[in-house]
Amino acid sequence: MPHTPPLSSPATLDHLDALDAGLLDAVINGAARLTPAQAIKLYHQMPLSELGRWADARCRRLHADHIRTYVIDRNINYTNVCNARCTFCAFRRDEGDSDAYTLSHETIHQKIAELVAIGGTQILMQGGMNPALPLSWYTELLTSIKSKFPRVHVHAFSPPEMIEFVHFFDPPGATLEDKVRWVLVRLKDAGLDSLPGGGGEIFADPVRRKIGLGKCDAESWLTVMHAAHSLGMFTSATMMFGHIEGPADRVHHMDMVRSWQDKSLARRDDARAGTTSPHGHYVSFISWPFQRENTPLGRVPDWGADERELAQEFPGDAVARAWAFGAAGSDQRGAPAGQRAADVFNYDAMDRSAYPTANLFGKRVRMSGSTDYLRTQALSRLYLDNIYSIGASWVTMGPHIGQVALAYGANDMGSVMMEENVVSSAGTTYCLDEPVLCHLIRGAGHLPAQRNNTYDILKIHSDASSPDLRVTDWSAHRARKMHQQAPKQSKVALTVASAGATNG
Ligand code: SF4
Repeated sequence: MPHTPPLSSPATLDHLDALDAGLLDAVINGAARLTPAQAIKLYHQMPLSELGRWADARCRRLHADHIRTYVIDRNINYTNVCNARCTFCAFRRDEGDSDAYTLSHETIHQKIAELVAIGGTQILMQGGMNPALPLSWYTELLTSIKSKFPRVHVHAFSPPEMIEFVHFFDPPGATLEDKVRWVLVRLKDAGLDSLPGGGGEIFADPVRRKIGLGKCDAESWLTVMHAAHSLGMFTSATMMFGHIEGPADRVHHMDMVRSWQDKSLARRDDARAGTTSPHGHYVSFISWPFQRENTPLGRVPDWGADERELAQEFPGDAVARAWAFGAAGSDQRGAPAGQRAADVFNYDAMDRSAYPTANLFGKRVRMSGSTDYLRTQALSRLYLDNIYSIGASWVTMGPHIGQVALAYGANDMGSVMMEENVVSSAGTTYCLDEPVLCHLIRGAGHLPAQRNNTYDILKIHSDASSPDLRVTDWSAHRARKMHQQAPKQSKVALTVASAGATNG
């Protein structure tokens, strides 16, 4: 059973300043939760090391001091054919491209066999949104995996894929949630165990419509997870930041996750009381900065490349201010996120006169570096008081920032990674084996422990037989380049330059 902080619905202490130690004491003890305004102020004004100390204190309160975890899984990207055109993506291909692929079931079985041979316990299987694959392709794949590898946990099909399954398979149902549930029931019966949080990016509507061309909106994404939770399934949530958005958009994203998690935890508690059937929830959150290499969005100029821009407001901040979530650090629309049907903002119709840089929205990027990553991750630990696990993103940030992230609120180092094709297409090259992951965790002052998908501990590495403590020659265990299924090449046209037809 996944571990989750209890649903305590702590009060917000709006009258306290974000930098007030009394407020943060209450937050790390689970007695108060941050408001969006307080979170935005913390992001902008709290020194990084201090923010890290508070996030670490909250992490230690939930996970104690000694154990930090990892999982042995394998990313399997079953197809790169995709009918969306996300501008941050270097992975997708059109059907018919010379390097387009869809893996056969037999190839996927072979990859899982290799995983099992090194002690792996789960696969993370995601792909492009490929209209050529019928529902039977997925159900037969899942059935065959469970037949050959009954102990392997299948963590697969992110919300954007699920939404396209609804479009491709036209299931019965009066609402989107009904249709998603119809598909999910069939996948779950065939062997799907849980859903990954891919495709979260940034939930804020103006940002999402600029970068996620053809990908589902935030409400659909959250509805898929809500449907999965209603079937007793556990899911994760993600955020990709450091592109065209402002920090207020990141806080809004976390706010949506927290609000919808509140609803799922309430139903979980109803289920425990015997009034409803078992209910799932989010078990983890992981965030990472946008990787620009080979992507259309990566060719967008950096904000401040022309120094005169730096005296003005970053376009993403201007638009966040205009759609009010980040205005003066508060949500001026009243209702908490998660109680609104959707956060829709008409960027095309906004009054540009009060936001002089808004016309550059989507035409400038503000990339994140290591410190912005650590700041954002630390904030996520403090804001997401109802999410058990915060993952460090060494895949994108590199092993050593991943290690440092354990002191900035992360309790989990993610996966020993045999293969990854999506972010590595955009320039990431890190690949770590189990001894290195354990070495990094131990070097950060913790005991490494292998976990499963639901964060149960499988092995604690405390003695001389530990994977890292058996190594005598580290030269064979350095971070190395990942295997890629497809060669690097971008086939996505740059479409963010126009605010009109390309806006969504
Ligand atoms: S990121 Fe977007 S374009 Fe790339 S594979 Fe996923 S849905 Fe398709």
